[in-house]
Amino acid sequence: MSEDGVKETHILIIGAGVTGLVIAHALQQAGIRYTIFESEDAGKKRPKEWTMGIHWSLPLLERLLPPRLASRIATDASVDPSLNYDEPPNNGAYIYDGVTGEVLKDLTPPTGRIVRVSRRKLRALCSECIDIKHGHVLQDVTTSEDSKTVTAKFMNEDSYTGTLLVGCDGPRSAVRSCLFKSEPGEAQAQAMQGGVTTSMAISYPDPEIARYVREKTHPVWCMSISPLLFHFMSMQDVPDPDRPETWRFFYFDSWLAKDQDEVEEFRDRGGDILAALKERGGKLAEPFRTALLSIPDETELRYSELIYWVAKPWDTRKGLMTLAGDSAHPMPPFRGQGGNHAIQDAHNFVEIVKQISQTTGEEAKSSLQAKAIQEYSDEVAKRGGEETNLSLKNGMMSMQYVDFKESPYMKQGLNKG
Ligand SMILES: Cc1cc2nc3c(=O)[nH]c(=O)nc-3n(C[C@H](O)[C@H](O)[C@H](O)COP(=O)(O)OP(=O)(O)OC[C@H]3O[C@@H](n4cnc5c(N)ncnc54)[C@H](O)[C@@H]3O)c2cc1C
Repeated sequence: MSEDGVKETHILIIGAGVTGLVIAHALQQAGIRYTIFESEDAGKKRPKEWTMGIHWSLPLLERLLPPRLASRIATDASVDPSLNYDEPPNNGAYIYDGVTGEVLKDLTPPTGRIVRVSRRKLRALCSECIDIKHGHVLQDVTTSEDSKTVTAKFMNEDSYTGTLLVGCDGPRSAVRSCLFKSEPGEAQAQAMQGGVTTSMAISYPDPEIARYVREKTHPVWCMSISPLLFHFMSMQDVPDPDRPETWRFFYFDSWLAKDQDEVEEFRDRGGDILAALKERGGKLAEPFRTALLSIPDETELRYSELIYWVAKPWDTRKGLMTLAGDSAHPMPPFRGQGGNHAIQDAHNFVEIVKQISQTTGEEAKSSLQAKAIQEYSDEVAKRGGEETNLSLKNGMMSMQYVDFKESPYMKQGLNKG
């Protein structure tokens, strides 16, 4: 309680991915009380790794983090700390025609820069100086009868009460399920249909192959489009710029399945997805041909399920519960936008919380919170839903190739939808 008897603002953040962590940092800098919970145990390393291009949201990310961390994004979280991300071509990317090998589009932004980060490294950077309550799997959320407080209950039987809860718990969000408790089907994420997708982080033991693939494509990231394959590639990690055999590459590959049986072959029946990928890759132009044919044979590849939820507005229970990041708009990563929108959500959310925490008088505070959090949520649902639809469209066009020149990627580049 504050001196005037009004409950102190206390934010419960569910999920310590990038969204939850940047919200925690911004609240910490503003002196606003929060508690952040994470289902995973401390120190657990996820087997799956990927990279994210932070482009239009980079200035927002730099504002959300304390300056001592913001200044380390390009060095400590990027895929190659030795690069200068203010200089072309490092501050952009290319889209290639995988059949001819020609550049179809240069994605370098006219102003600003793109920093490609390792999700793992960015999460580690954003975890610094944040006290995360690990091993807390959210089970349920309830609000008080007077609509003044919200309580999170966890599987380990802990429970915490605050004045506002934000679900940053990713694509299969438990908070989203709680928001749509009375109509559970409405919160359900769907699997993207029609394609076969796989991803990997690999090294080439032969340094000449690693050097050739990187020099002939892009120092940071690019993609190639063809009727056979949508192939995305980026550096995952460059521990030693002078030793290409130490470099790790991240690949994300998708192709249009001829029928559902082909999907099931790889998804359910253990079909050899690496052999299928190499067969397709072998028909591409150089250097994509070599990049794909040289994937080490022992690489274990799995079918990746791409899930999405076209956001619909949710009732925030008088401003007590909301969502941010992938929990609000899980989308297939075909336009590289999910993380950028997550950072925009975090920024918008924190700005509103600052206003709420500065408001005096219990009734004024509650009514501002009810109105502003509902408005925040409606905007996230609209923006997130639109981007999810664009990413789905872009994904199908990337795999189909014929209409690719009309795709959001070619028309809008990396701009916000
Ligand atoms: C292959 C790939 C490439 C991508 N490329 C890009 C890109 O180029 N640009 C871009 O902007 N975006 C990209 N994205 C999307 C981006 O990675 C996500 O939008 C972003 O990581 C979302 O972060 P988040 O914190 O919202 O969710 P998450 O990273 O999923 O974090 C959610 C956290 O909540 C925890 N959690 C889950 N359930 C519970 C529970 N019940 N209780 C407590 N905690 C829970 C999880 O353990 C996790 O730590 C890409 C995604 C993929 C898969």
